[in-house]
Amino acid sequence: MKLFAIFGNPVEHSRSPLMHNSVFKNLNYRACYTRVHLSDGLKLRETFFSLGLSGANVTVPHKEVAFEACDEVRGFAKKIGVVNTLVNENGKLVGYNTDADGFVCSIKEFGRIKKILILGAGGTAKALASRFVQEDMEVTILNRSADKLTYFKNLAQFCYSWEEFKLSSYDLVVNTTSAGLKDEELPAPKEIIEVILDNTVFVADAIYGKLTPFLRLAKNKNIRFKDGADMLLEQGILANDLFVNHELDLVDIRKYMSRSFAI
Ligand code: NDP
Repeated sequence: MKLFAIFGNPVEHSRSPLMHNSVFKNLNYRACYTRVHLSDGLKLRETFFSLGLSGANVTVPHKEVAFEACDEVRGFAKKIGVVNTLVNENGKLVGYNTDADGFVCSIKEFGRIKKILILGAGGTAKALASRFVQEDMEVTILNRSADKLTYFKNLAQFCYSWEEFKLSSYDLVVNTTSAGLKDEELPAPKEIIEVILDNTVFVADAIYGKLTPFLRLAKNKNIRFKDGADMLLEQGILANDLFVNHELDLVDIRKYMSRSFAI
């Protein structure tokens, strides 16, 4: 029996155990997926191996330390220095990132997006910004702390802290901050969020399973919005495929993972 887990802080809210266990159970794959509350990200590697894990997902706020913890990082994760999926390959810790592809899949319903504003400058923002730049989108970053913007200076077209923000118009604004996850905060001061929402077509939040204060404001303004549930599903399908080393059919993984959202 293989054991998988999600590491995070907070992690109690995570739907990942339900999603992955639904796949394992229905496809008779001998594995179980649990959650591990991890306060100190530097203990990630040692905890992973002491629990005898075959693989793991990593969530807020440990995705960047997860990159450092790996013996090898593959694909897009290598480019951005952010890891959300870990696989134990014969004692070697291998890291991947499935968030960016997951998000891109999840916003297909919005059609062609050319100008995007990303709220936040953490691991998820790095993944999404790098991916959007690859797709020739105009990317703007807005973050609470100015020091986190350094990474984005040569990547995004515009980077602002709250104090410096200059408004434009956007096709999509996405919240990648953890504001609203366990509190009722907005990702930026209300007066800034209000004008941003008045100048966008679509809104998305990486947070799932609740109407965040950000999404509530968008809803009140009749803006088309979506939460992070589809992103979660899409990144989960890609991660599960890595966990089982491509042994299961992707159509089946999608079927049973989607079904877990009805629980
Ligand atoms: P990080 O810890 O790497 O980054 C957090 C970011 O949020 C930082 O930019 C931080 O700003 C900002 N922030 C935190 N609190 C506040 C606040 N009260 N007001 C304004 N800004 C704030 O987190 P991740 O990038 O890993 O994750 C971010 C969010 O995305 C989480 O809520 C996570 O659950 C969600 N997520 C969802 C996924 C899905 O599948 N649906 C996948 C990945 C992430 P500062 O620099 O100033 O500290």
